[in-house]
Amino acid sequence: MSTAHIVGGGPAGLMAAEVLARAGVEVRLHEAMPSPGRKLLLAGHGGLNLTHSEDRASFLGRYGDSAGRLAPVLEVFGPDELRAWASGLGEPTFIGSSGRVFPQAFRAIPLVRAWLARLAGLGVRIETRQRWTGWAPDTDALLLAGPDGTVTEAAGDVTVFALGGASWPRLGSDGGWVGPFTARGVQVAPLRAANVGVRVGWTQRFADRFAGVPLKTVAVAVRGRPGTAVRGDAMVTGTGLEGGPLYALGATIRQALDADGRCVLEVDLRPDLSLGQLADRLAHRRPKDSAASWLRRAIGLDAVSTGLLWEAGGGLPGGAHEAAALVKALPVEVTGTMPIDRAISSAGGVAWDEVDETLMLRAMPGTFVAGEMLDWEAPTGGYLLQASFSTGVVAGLGALARLGGP
Ligand SMILES: Cc1cc2nc3c(=O)[nH]c(=O)nc-3n(C[C@H](O)[C@H](O)[C@H](O)COP(=O)(O)OP(=O)(O)OC[C@H]3O[C@@H](n4cnc5c(N)ncnc54)[C@H](O)[C@@H]3O)c2cc1C
Repeated sequence: MSTAHIVGGGPAGLMAAEVLARAGVEVRLHEAMPSPGRKLLLAGHGGLNLTHSEDRASFLGRYGDSAGRLAPVLEVFGPDELRAWASGLGEPTFIGSSGRVFPQAFRAIPLVRAWLARLAGLGVRIETRQRWTGWAPDTDALLLAGPDGTVTEAAGDVTVFALGGASWPRLGSDGGWVGPFTARGVQVAPLRAANVGVRVGWTQRFADRFAGVPLKTVAVAVRGRPGTAVRGDAMVTGTGLEGGPLYALGATIRQALDADGRCVLEVDLRPDLSLGQLADRLAHRRPKDSAASWLRRAIGLDAVSTGLLWEAGGGLPGGAHEAAALVKALPVEVTGTMPIDRAISSAGGVAWDEVDETLMLRAMPGTFVAGEMLDWEAPTGGYLLQASFSTGVVAGLGALARLGGP
């Protein structure tokens, strides 16, 4: 019987394990943490967003420069296949109002539990507390550090690496694999924070009052980058802003940061109303109204939005046109992005040129790479897990084909 080593027990590694084990391959999965799938479980805390229901072209577009390489991968195992797979584990999915897809239980725990039971039934051996630290010199044998020291594990017939990116390192993925891979001559684009909040130097008063308060249905753009506006809810934090629009703008923000790590966002606090409509509504101010009441009454500005106007101008605007212009393009100075350990995912990874269409390393035949380790990025919305699962399937199938399987 052929043997496959899978290194890394996140969604990508577990999926590759399932594909290979179903075909009768002996699978040994090495995982650094005491249990697999920790990031997947954390992802399920606020609702496990498995994938998205939007049309194929829009879906693919979320992967930016990597869309071309991920298109055939998603053709093999796309959103429909992922939803059917979850149903098969007793977790049928539903489409939320935003088009995002969730398991019925909403959380990840039942899905992960059923999945691990299935893998155990297929004979997959999950060996935990085994941290892969590199290859033994001049061979493809795996060095695995565990509680009793480092063992050298002879390379199996195929190996799939699915070690994740570098966000939330305490869950196991710390990007420690980059060193050994680059030492073998594999090109790796630097791992950078993606889907991460930005830092803003709020006044103490604003931070104390509004940290944790959402900015509902705003449109955020990066100054000087036309056409970048992204709508959604943003969240004020004690040190900045986070949430969907900021995550979606991540790559643009990274490009816009100047030498000091700064850029300016423009927040449209009322994207459904034009500048003219806002100015018209603001034209009638009751003499007794404070500026805050006027803004609330005329254009429905809530307290946090009014607070942002204060932050931008050191006071509230007095004239209708001045206020309308500020509401449509409120400047927020960004002083940097949050560090990678607070990011939902990471950009960068093994360069696409290094793998063939089966995700096998060209320089190391028989060795495959899957999941966030590869150089793609996407916003939140289910695209991260979808690509992780899908590349896991394709790497598993590639490994199987390498073993002479179907
Ligand atoms: C808070 C949060 C919420 C999220 N929510 C969502 C969501 O709702 N929807 C969505 O699509 N995505 C979400 N994501 C992103 C998603 O969880 C990841 O993109 C996905 O888990 C990546 O899968 P992966 O298998 O490539 O890597 P990982 O899930 O990171 O798994 C890699 C595994 O490899 C192990 N490992 C790492 N290094 C070694 C080593 N040297 N030796 C042995 N084992 C090692 C790790 O311990 C880990 O178990 C979220 C992420 C976070 C942090």
